[in-house]
Amino acid sequence: MSDSLAGQTIEIARRAVTRRFESAAIDTAELDARILIGAGLNLDLTGLIAQAARQLTAAEAARLEDFVRRRLAGEPVARILAAKEFWGLPLQLSPATLVPRPDTETVVELALEMLRAAPRPDRRRSIADIGTGSGAILLALLSELPDAYGIGTDISGAALSAARTNAARLGLSDRAGFVACDYASALGGGFDLIVSNPPYIRTNDIAGLAAEVRDHDPHRALDGGPDGLAAYRTLIPQAASLLAPNGVLAVEVGRGQSGQVERLMTATGLIHERPPKADLAGIPRAVAGLKLPP
Ligand code: GLN
Repeated sequence: MSDSLAGQTIEIARRAVTRRFESAAIDTAELDARILIGAGLNLDLTGLIAQAARQLTAAEAARLEDFVRRRLAGEPVARILAAKEFWGLPLQLSPATLVPRPDTETVVELALEMLRAAPRPDRRRSIADIGTGSGAILLALLSELPDAYGIGTDISGAALSAARTNAARLGLSDRAGFVACDYASALGGGFDLIVSNPPYIRTNDIAGLAAEVRDHDPHRALDGGPDGLAAYRTLIPQAASLLAPNGVLAVEVGRGQSGQVERLMTATGLIHERPPKADLAGIPRAVAGLKLPP
């Protein structure tokens, strides 16, 4: 198989790779083939169509064969390319970051709704993203809120370096800072918005996750302890004390966790102005709490 794409045209290679993915029961076979071939050849969809009849060079064929082999071995497309779009923003990934999920855009939506419902023309809003990973949530928010500035924390230096690269590439470096620490432990107070997608999978459920997640997402970004809620127990009290009056905490939750996470917020004095926000599959995915003035 090592050179089966050599000398093929782009169109024939696309079909061949799609068929190989289909035979491996990859349900996004055609999409994965298009994305990998497009990225391997540095062509967008229009380019792939315009150059459909062009023959692959030997170097291109070898690069695509490598991508195909990795995909057939179960590696997700986003890992192979070390890149994923989130909120329409191209992000670079590292093995130390989760692949950002469309579900997580629910957290961005809920946070924006709450900020926009309570405009504060008198101040530049400050945002903290706890366990920022690739910087996805923070950078999405900064891209929507031109006056805001923010800080992302992560325990992983490799994650922070991916987040810094992403901020720079998106032209957001002057409004985004990144710091290495556990949860919010290095932060001072007074944030208008704190967001997080913490690890929330129950330890015993990790073995049963899809292989693409289990074998490729960083374990510590997934493992939420015996009941999945360990990170929230640390994070929510820290965040509650770091919020400014009228500040908002918005977090992602796993399936079935929204009620328990709401109660953890209530226990720290946060109130729920809005119900949890559901993701595209209808699962309550983002939970928010508001800190009332003293
Ligand atoms: N959304 C991820 C998954 O279910 C989990 C991410 C997390 O634990 N925060 O695969």
